[in-house]
This record gives sequence, structure tokens and C-alpha cells, in this order.
Amino acid sequence: MGKSNDWENKERESFITAESKIAQRIHENQQNLSLLTVAAHQIIHNDKPKELLDSLFREISQELGLDVYFNYMYDSVQDKLKLMNYAGIDDDLAHKIRFLEMGEAVCGCVALKQECLVMEHIQQSDDSHVQLVKSIGIKAYACYPLLSYGKLIGTLSFGSSRKPSFDRLVLKLMATICEQVAVALERAYFMSELMLKNKALNAQNQQLAASEEKFRAMFDAALDGMVLLTEEGIVLDANPSACELLGIGPDIPNQEIGRLVEILHLESSEREAVLRLRDGSERIFEYAVTQDNVLLGNKLVSFRDITEKKKVFQTLLEAKELAEETSKAKTEFLTILSHELRTPLNSILGFAQISLEDKVHDLHQIQQERIHKILKSGRHLTYLVNEMLDHVSTKSGKLEMKSETLHLSLIVEESLRILQPMIEAKSICVRVCDPDRVPHVRGDGNRVKQVIINLLTNAVKFNVPHGEIRINFEIVGPTLKTMISDTGIGISQEQHKKIFDPFYRIHHPEYNVEGTGIGLTLVKSFISIMAGTVGVSSTLGEGSCFWFTLPLD
Ligand code: ADP
Repeated sequence: MGKSNDWENKERESFITAESKIAQRIHENQQNLSLLTVAAHQIIHNDKPKELLDSLFREISQELGLDVYFNYMYDSVQDKLKLMNYAGIDDDLAHKIRFLEMGEAVCGCVALKQECLVMEHIQQSDDSHVQLVKSIGIKAYACYPLLSYGKLIGTLSFGSSRKPSFDRLVLKLMATICEQVAVALERAYFMSELMLKNKALNAQNQQLAASEEKFRAMFDAALDGMVLLTEEGIVLDANPSACELLGIGPDIPNQEIGRLVEILHLESSEREAVLRLRDGSERIFEYAVTQDNVLLGNKLVSFRDITEKKKVFQTLLEAKELAEETSKAKTEFLTILSHELRTPLNSILGFAQISLEDKVHDLHQIQQERIHKILKSGRHLTYLVNEMLDHVSTKSGKLEMKSETLHLSLIVEESLRILQPMIEAKSICVRVCDPDRVPHVRGDGNRVKQVIINLLTNAVKFNVPHGEIRINFEIVGPTLKTMISDTGIGISQEQHKKIFDPFYRIHHPEYNVEGTGIGLTLVKSFISIMAGTVGVSSTLGEGSCFWFTLPLD
């Protein structure tokens, strides 16, 4: 009896234990289910990864006895794990472990193998992979790969510093949560990426709208006419200037351009078109067309009315032609005149010379003096006629120039000899500086002499009695510069350019000097034909310095 009672008691006890175990399991399952429900709620309703994980951890950590979590995301470009979210550690440590190589520590191993790892009794473990979590007092640690469609997106791990190991159900629960988190995280990151792109797109749209507005303002304000045309010549848009220039109303879009204006002539190489407008007037337009591919196959044609400009241009052209013809006629007249003058002049000079030398018919003293005057004036006239001829030949380009090696100091010496009577008559002192050190130059000897004689003649003519003339030489680059300075009346600044013009003379009532006003014109023409330049520096009342350059030989 006693035995059977014992057995019954044992039986009842084991039944009660089994029953309470079942009740315990049911309770635990219910608890886990409610945790899963809470987790699922967080996962579904939160699009921000950090918020999602932090609040999820807050909800489950107490129930499951968890103290830390780490969420690394996989950076496929660098092939590394990057710590994105965490709880239970300080920011300094988080910064230190912000990157993990694949295979490094527990999370690196999980990422590499794409399998979950559960490490327990860590404080007693020597495994190198757990040293990091061991150092922060973790006793049990579980890390799960976050996979989306079989592809690694990161890892999520939980650690407990209270329990040395995890319950089987807790592990299962954490695995389930991680599966859901993977999908949610991918969605959240995808969403945040999408939002960033959306933001950038919005900014771009705003920029586009601003630039469209700017373009529209420019289009409307442009003084040139602008018309946007399709390939077929249909008007899509036209600015106010276009309507005004073409004499049409603003209601032109979608009309064919040929119906609005009549194209009489189109010169594509010159970009000119002659159009007949609606009021019957003919106008000339200058136009430009944008590249076809810029405006999706449409063309932007900009144009301006050049009818008046063309008229002015035509008038100017005609005036220029007339001036050229007149100048040509003048040159021809001067050439003929000079040639025609030379023949009677030669005869006057010849007969005057014969009369002077005639030993048979003796002339009276007075007759001889008169013939001398005829000879002097005749020679001067010959000089003038020759200068005139030189001038017309340089203008018509008929003047021939030699290119020879020249001893400039010798030419200066010879010129001074010719002008000696004139120099002495005015008691002018002439100084030539370093004549022996003057290098050779290239040019036409006779023309260079003519240049020097012209400049020296002026330096004497416009000098004061007992004045001074200096001749200096200087090498400037590949040229020799010859300077002829005098102590004469000088020239005002505004006359410096004009004195080189043909027939230009400055009126000096107190100096009654002969001249044609062509000497300096010839100097300039001759020197420029010989590849040199001419210039003057002068101060009124103090003297002048005329210079010219010639290429070194
Ligand atoms: P012309 O000497 O026959 O008048 P040029 O062409 O040689 O013609 O000179 C033009 C003008 O330049 C002269 O009339 C004179 O007024 C001025 N001129 C030229 N050389 C000098 C000079 N050395 N000093 C002052 N004036 C000068």
C-alpha cells in the first residue's frame, strides 16, 4: 500500500513538473511572441536605420538580458565593414572600431562566412576574435549576418555582460529579428538614398527653373530678334524684338515662317537674308543659327536689321572709290605736269648757261647778274620738280630702291660738303659724334643721301644764326638709329605727326624759308621702303631731333 502510494506521489509530482514546464514554455513563447510583435512593429514603422535599431534594442534588451549591440554595414567598394549603429559602448571605442576588415573580430568572421556565430563564456576564452568584446566585459555574444536576397549587407550582433550563455529560444528569437532587420535595413538605406537623390534632383530642378527664367528674361530683353524654329520651319517661339523687326503680332507660334515673311534672297555664306515684310517693305537682315543638336533638333535663329548699315556702307564705299579715283587723277596730273615742266626748264637753264659762257657777245654786268638769278631760280625749280616726281613715284609704288651696304658716316660727310655754303651762311656749328665707329647699314645710297640732305637742310633752315647741329648714331636692336638734332625754333607737340603729311608746312612769319612741304614726306616714304622707321622729338623754341633707323648690314 505504502509502495503504491509512493509511486502515485512520484507520478503526480512528475506530472506537475511536466505541466509546470509546459506552462513555463507557453509563457516564454508568449513572451517571445510579444517581443517579436514589438520588434516587427519597430521594423515596419521606422525608416531611419539608427532610430529603428536603437528603439528595437531598447524594447528587447531588458527582456533578453542584452547590454550591447553593434550594427556594421558592408562597404562593397572598400570590401570592409563600417560601424553604422551601436549601443552600450562609448563613442571613443566606437570611433576606434569604426572599420573592420573582412575576417577581423567576430563580426568580420560572420561577414566573411555569412553564418551566425555564438560565443559564450567569453571571459574564460583565449580566442583572438573575441578579445575586443571580452575587453568591455561581455560574457555572451551572438553575431548574425544581415542578408538580403542572399547578398551580404552587414552584420548585427548582441552581447550580454550579465549572462555567460544564451538560451536556445533567445538565440532563435534574435535570429528571427535579424532576418527581419536585414530586409528593413536595406529598405531604410534604400529609402534614405532615394531621399538624398530626390533632394539633389529637387535642387537641380530649382536650378533648371532659375536658368530657364534667366534665359527667358534674356530672350525677351534681347535687342536682336530671336525665333525658335522646328526643322520644318514652324515657329515655336519668338521674342518681342523678332515680332517688331518682322512687323508681326505676338500670336505667331505654330505658324510657318514662310507665311509670316517672304524670303527674297538667302546668302548662307555671308549669313544675310533679304526679306519682304507684310507691309511690303524689303529689309536686309544679318542672321545666325544655333547648332541643330542643341535644342533637340530645333533651331534658334537670331537676326538684326542691317538695311541702314548697308546703305551707309555703300555710300562710304562709293566715297572711297571716288577719293581713290581723284587721288589717282591728281597723281597722274602731277606726273604729267612735272615731266612737261622739265623740258622747258632744261632749255631755260641751258640757254642761260650758254649766254653766260658766250665769249663772242659780251654781256653787261647787269645782264650777267640777271642771268645768274635766272639760273638760281631755274635750279630751284628743277629741285622742286624732281621732289614732286619722287613723291608721285613713291605713291604709285613705282620707285625702285637698291639694297646696298652703306657707310653712313661717309654719306653724312658728303651731304655736309654739299650743304657747306648754306651752313656757313648761317654760321652753324655741326658736330658728328664718333663717325669712325658707325657700323654699316643696308639701303639705297642715293635715297639715304637724299634723306640726310633733307633733314640737314631743315636743321639749317629752321635753326637760329650761330646755332648748332649734332649728328649721333646708336645701335637699337637690329638697326642703326641716326639722330639729327638742332637748336632751332622747334615744333609743337600737335604738329609732330602732321609735318610728315604731303605739302604740310608750318607758317613762320618771322622765318621766310623756302620749301614745298614734301621733304619730310619723302624722308618717311624712302625710309619705310628701306625697312626703317622715322620720328621726331621736339620742344617749341628749344630745337628738334629728327631720327631714322636702317637695318644693320
Ligand atoms: P619744307 O621744309 O619744304 O617746308 P618739310 O616736309 O621738309 O617741308 O617740312 C615740313 C615742315 O616741318 C616745315 O615747313 C617746318 O615747319 C617743319 N620742320 C621740318 N624740320 C624742322 C626743324 N628741324 N625744325 C623746325 N621745324 C621743322
